[in-house]
Amino acid sequence: RTHPRTPLTARELTVRYGEFTALDGVDLAVPAGRITAVVGPNGAGKSTLFHCLAGTLRPDAGRVEFDGRDITACPAHARTRLGVARTFQQLAVFPTLTVAENVRVGAEQGRVRDAAAVRRTLTLLGLDGPVAHRPAADLPTGTLRRVELARALAGGPHVLLLDEPAAGLDAAEVAVLATVLKALAADGTALLIVEHDLDLVDRLADTVHAMAAGRIVASGPPEQVLDALDAATTAVHDGPHA
Ligand code: ADP
Ligand code: MG
Repeated sequence: RTHPRTPLTARELTVRYGEFTALDGVDLAVPAGRITAVVGPNGAGKSTLFHCLAGTLRPDAGRVEFDGRDITACPAHARTRLGVARTFQQLAVFPTLTVAENVRVGAEQGRVRDAAAVRRTLTLLGLDGPVAHRPAADLPTGTLRRVELARALAGGPHVLLLDEPAAGLDAAEVAVLATVLKALAADGTALLIVEHDLDLVDRLADTVHAMAAGRIVASGPPEQVLDALDAATTAVHDGPHA
């Protein structure tokens, strides 16, 4: 399966809430086969950017492009159909459906509808055993997070958008998540993660964009951007060392 080289691009995105500018001319590319991370303090504008890319928020200025095509006016479900998948922090699984049925619903909303893709996705996320036939309502949060990810992946997306995928996971679950996300990128999927857990970003990301007050203030490989963030945070919180 081939992916557009740069499936998703944000150009000069601006979002205002009344007088307040939450996003101020943000440019961002989400390239195929790479894990791109957005980090920054609470209120920096990360989720606002995420919603503009997913299609759940229309920017006041700027545009979103899919493979060079302007999709700013495309609603979220049409973007999913093009191959822009996302996960939800408030899990978007149907409690009365089984795990496999939930993943099938995800496939129906996506780019490709294919039973083999559903089976591959269940296997990739370790959901191919007896758990596949359990109603989602009975499952622990860690498993539901995997179902949620499988639902997003079953339609064969070109791009996967994840807002804080590690929130509420224990260390073992984060390790599984990291392995799965790396495998997806190796397979050519473009990944964008918005994440508070800087250790995870350091382990996963090819490129990190640091946001503050609605702008991207630094971009580069994690070792470069995260060290600069560390230094800035240390200076603010600890002052100069004696
Ligand atoms: P982050 O995800 O980086 O924590 P957000 O994108 O959620 O930041 O929010 C950026 C800023 O925009 C914050 O100051 C937040 O209070 C503000 N904001 C977000 N959504 C709304 C809204 N619906 N109405 C007014 N202000 C908002
Ligand atoms: Mg947020």
